[in-house]
Amino acid sequence: GATLGVMGGGQLGRMFVHEAQRMGYATAVLDPDPDSPAGHVSHHHIPAGYADVDGLARLAGLADAITTEFENVPAPSLQHLAVARPVSPGAAAVAIAQDRIREKAHFTRCGVSCAPHAVLQEAADLANVDEDLLPGILKTARLGYDGKGQQRVRTRDELAAAWQAAGGVACVLEKMLPLDFECSVIVARGRDGLMVHLPPQRNLHRDGILAVTEVHEYSMPADVAEQATAAARSIAEGLEYVGVLCVEFFVLMGGTLVVNEMAPRPHNSGHWSMDASDVSQFELQVRTLAGLPLTQPRQHSPAIMLNLLGDLWFPDGDTPREPPWADVLALPGVHLHLYGKAEARRGRKMGHLNVTGADIDAVRGTADFAAALLGLAIPLSE
Ligand code: ATP
Ligand code: MG
Ligand code: MG
Repeated sequence: GATLGVMGGGQLGRMFVHEAQRMGYATAVLDPDPDSPAGHVSHHHIPAGYADVDGLARLAGLADAITTEFENVPAPSLQHLAVARPVSPGAAAVAIAQDRIREKAHFTRCGVSCAPHAVLQEAADLANVDEDLLPGILKTARLGYDGKGQQRVRTRDELAAAWQAAGGVACVLEKMLPLDFECSVIVARGRDGLMVHLPPQRNLHRDGILAVTEVHEYSMPADVAEQATAAARSIAEGLEYVGVLCVEFFVLMGGTLVVNEMAPRPHNSGHWSMDASDVSQFELQVRTLAGLPLTQPRQHSPAIMLNLLGDLWFPDGDTPREPPWADVLALPGVHLHLYGKAEARRGRKMGHLNVTGADIDAVRGTADFAAALLGLAIPLSE
């Protein structure tokens, strides 16, 4: 049988591996961590760095096609692998997604508006920043996630200090926008250019980290959902993308849609699809990678996803305890996913809980109940 390879052994790689195995594939994971969540469950685990030539050669030797589970995989490594094997998404698309400056240029090229922003490459650029961009958020162009690498600034002095604190690396300053809510869309595009998508997801972040995703008929106005879907599809089309792509959006007070960023892989906000859609985002990843046909996924239940961060393991003090899973699992329509991480840490993504049910009232009731049992912050929605 065929073997599918993945760069990265985190939870996204693990869920990809599970899905690939369900569909009859063997798997190979490349991750320097000998103890990674995906490495544990994969047929093959290559404990090598992402730019290690021997490791890459071993991966290409084992796998018939290769994907990635995190956007910061070195693009040259993907390029290198692509000489030997089909790699999706490709190095060019990943290189754009891992650099906010190039990413915003791509969005603009596709006719999708992003937040007003300035590019800061060197100290001299600070003086040219338009006053209108303040207050704003300074984001490093590369390597940020979960709000890391971001600083809120109100004045030019704060901006200069923040840019210094970021180490003077390339950054973008984004105007702070008045958000009504946030949403994201997952699209999958095959090598033949055929594209399908999951319904738009409404996302609630806490402290820069995704906390709750809701997907149901009342989660956002229909015109916003349509616009976001069309924008995500044109962004993927413009990249000639192959694989699963997630595009995050802001919806401003007043209803204007603004694109935030994209991830060249399955996304935390798409985890609901594992239990409430006939095709999950990981199955889409397997299908695009293996060159299997894509069919439009059908959501068969309203869904609420609760992220389970390591904080839940520390309800009182520094001694971790296992959250009360049995109590939560006594509720109907609760689906628990844990990532097999050895150690709980505050802010660390340990798992998620999907709630499904006959209608959104039932789902919301169950989700509220589960949140209360776990000690998650309530309310679950804005
Ligand atoms: P991720 O883990 O999703 O990759 P990230 O570190 O790349 O996160 P962003 O998505 O850029 O960060 O921002 C994190 C959150 O901060 C957003 O989801 C939003 O809640 C808030 N935020 C970011 N930019 C703005 C903005 N220009 N105006 C208002 N809020 C913003
Ligand atoms: Mg990001
Ligand atoms: Mg984000």
